[in-house]
Amino acid sequence: MSFHAKEVQPGNDGEWIRETIADFIAQSPENTMADNSGDPAWDSALVGFASGADPMWQQFKEYVGPFHWTPWEIYTQMHPDKPAIPWDLTVISWVLPQRQDVRKANRRAKKYPAEQWARTRIYGEAFNVALRRHVVDLLQEKGHPAVAPMLAPTWAVVKSQRFSYASSWSERHAAHAAGLGTFGLCDGLITARGKALRAGSVVARISIEPTPRYYTNHRAYCLFFAENTCGKCIDRCPARAITEAGHDKEKCRKHLTASREHVKKAYGFDGYGCGLCQVGVPCEAGIPVKSAREALERGELPPPPQPLA
Ligand code: SF4
Ligand code: SF4
Repeated sequence: MSFHAKEVQPGNDGEWIRETIADFIAQSPENTMADNSGDPAWDSALVGFASGADPMWQQFKEYVGPFHWTPWEIYTQMHPDKPAIPWDLTVISWVLPQRQDVRKANRRAKKYPAEQWARTRIYGEAFNVALRRHVVDLLQEKGHPAVAPMLAPTWAVVKSQRFSYASSWSERHAAHAAGLGTFGLCDGLITARGKALRAGSVVARISIEPTPRYYTNHRAYCLFFAENTCGKCIDRCPARAITEAGHDKEKCRKHLTASREHVKKAYGFDGYGCGLCQVGVPCEAGIPVKSAREALERGELPPPPQPLA
């Protein structure tokens, strides 16, 4: 099957890219659970844009470590013959929210992921890889050099003293910069469609107006940080990897590794996953902090938090 981009209207590249992503989700045969259900892995996406010159990229680098790329660094690495300055670049970021029946199935899981969830981790992510390639190809056809950082041959996971491990690029951080959400206690990204999701991004030499960030800090959508309540993800985690101090990546990684045997034995394919902390919690499918949710709906910054009585 081939995909045809709609005619680009001058100055409307953001809309064209949103439509390109929606069309690919609707039409690609790779959007599949790879089972007998005939269900797609994904049914929609949230899309946001951030400037390559946004100071947040440098802040990420300083926080995560020198190995963490800015958009300009990975663009220049992959396109040394097509020079650009950070201001020429846009990061296109998307979030693929888990479908309702996948979330429902994983809500019942107590230790290892439901089959549907494990399928989105493997086959849904294979589609996400295809989507990254598709967006890069279409941009390049239209004369906009582009790269999907996660698919760059130099992308790597690096041991980090502060984070246990970290990588050259983070899809969730790109989505945060592109106005799509903020982080929860469990490290997941809480978006207007909740925290049960996968994310992707592409860096391109193209000018698109950045998506506003309707949040005042990087944890504004999590009840634990905004209202000192909740903590439901702590109880959902079968590996005790989440506490009031945050997310223990090493414990989480070990549990994901252990899930491989279960997925193979119970579901009959090579896969893994968990995501128990992403479902059965107030942030599963939306923003649980009322003031932040309403501010986003109005397209305004939320009011400053009231001091606790
Ligand atoms: S379950 Fe509660 S504490 Fe955990 S990330 Fe969601 S809102 Fe925050
Ligand atoms: S923190 Fe990791 S191990 Fe715990 S529920 Fe979330 S994904 Fe599973």
